[in-house]
Amino acid sequence: MNRQARIPVAVLGATGMVGQRFIELLQGHPWFELVGLGASERHGGRTYADVSRWRLPGSEMPVSAANLPVVACSPEALGDVKIVFSALPAEVAGDIEAHFARAGIAVFSNAKNYRMAADVPLLIPEVNADHAAAIIQQRRLRNWSGCIVTNANCSATPLVMALKPLQETFGVKKVMVTTMQAISGAGYPGLSAYDILDNAIPYISGEEEKVESETLKMLGRWDEGHGFSAAPMVVSAQCNRVATREGHLECASIELGREADPEEIIAAWENYQSEPQQLNLPSAPEHALLYRREPDRPQTLRDRDTGHGMTVTIGRLRRCPILGYKFALLGHNTIRGAAGGSILNAELCVSKGLV
Ligand code: NAP
Repeated sequence: MNRQARIPVAVLGATGMVGQRFIELLQGHPWFELVGLGASERHGGRTYADVSRWRLPGSEMPVSAANLPVVACSPEALGDVKIVFSALPAEVAGDIEAHFARAGIAVFSNAKNYRMAADVPLLIPEVNADHAAAIIQQRRLRNWSGCIVTNANCSATPLVMALKPLQETFGVKKVMVTTMQAISGAGYPGLSAYDILDNAIPYISGEEEKVESETLKMLGRWDEGHGFSAAPMVVSAQCNRVATREGHLECASIELGREADPEEIIAAWENYQSEPQQLNLPSAPEHALLYRREPDRPQTLRDRDTGHGMTVTIGRLRRCPILGYKFALLGHNTIRGAAGGSILNAELCVSKGLV
């Protein structure tokens, strides 16, 4: 690819929580140029500055986005874009994303609609880069000149990244995970302040099912001609909403396929090598995983921005009397678990010549 000419891209759901992250992360991107913004039709082409309030802490609304019109989410309204990043709610994402894929545009989606489809990659470049090849079959089966590539639920993503080196080195048979998920995971405005301040809620609709099923797809195999097969392990998830703004903290217990001592497990995390770092993809963090040895880390507030929000922080590895080992992990939900992960997926597909 001639990296001098940046690829024109648009963000769908640009006014929402994940949409704003996309806009922030695409500023100055070396391969992608943000040229279009989509949301619901009610904004009627008014500028982003007119229709949207910038909510991300520590940054201002980028000037280049402020002056773009916010148009309907259709290929016709967005003109000549080659890639769209979708931060649409599931209620509307299915039809809209298919429309773009049919029109020859590559869709990188955060919505749940196509994640478990038999011909759609559910991609984390550090974990299952080879699953991207499913795009070829998808195009053939659906007669699309574009494609849809999804990223996972924002709690499943860091869990899978922490499990991958253990699966490769020791095998993983069982996983029990309890999450403490930030309020931004519910979008904006999300929960009312009265419901979440001074509170923790042991229920997020559909979340546990997503963590359990998506983990198995991502850690499973893709074989040309056979399709996806789920990883041979069992996962049980309990998901909680807590009063943090960003970052999902998770406590996992695992049964490995063979006996291992703690230093071997930590070494598997610390030595993990993966494709995005080898390919030097622009959004790849230097370290996909960071193990911290302090007894009280990772912490949501202190560790979520590690690696610009793209590194998963792990800590507190110790024996579990039931499954063998337990540990804590943390991932930034709107960066690694959403917009940043999606941009990395697009970079991988571009670098492999799939898009
Ligand atoms: P959000 O804050 O509620 O934003 C939703 C966006 O969709 C807004 O820009 C909204 O624009 C737009 N929209 C709503 N209805 C529309 C319609 N009929 N047509 C076109 N656009 C419409 O949600 P979010 O948290 O950013 O989540 C976006 C997607 O990412 C969801 O599928 C979610 O499950 C997924 N996800 C979220 C996270 C997270 O941490 N938040 C992580 C992973 C995945 P208007 O201004 O027009 O209303």
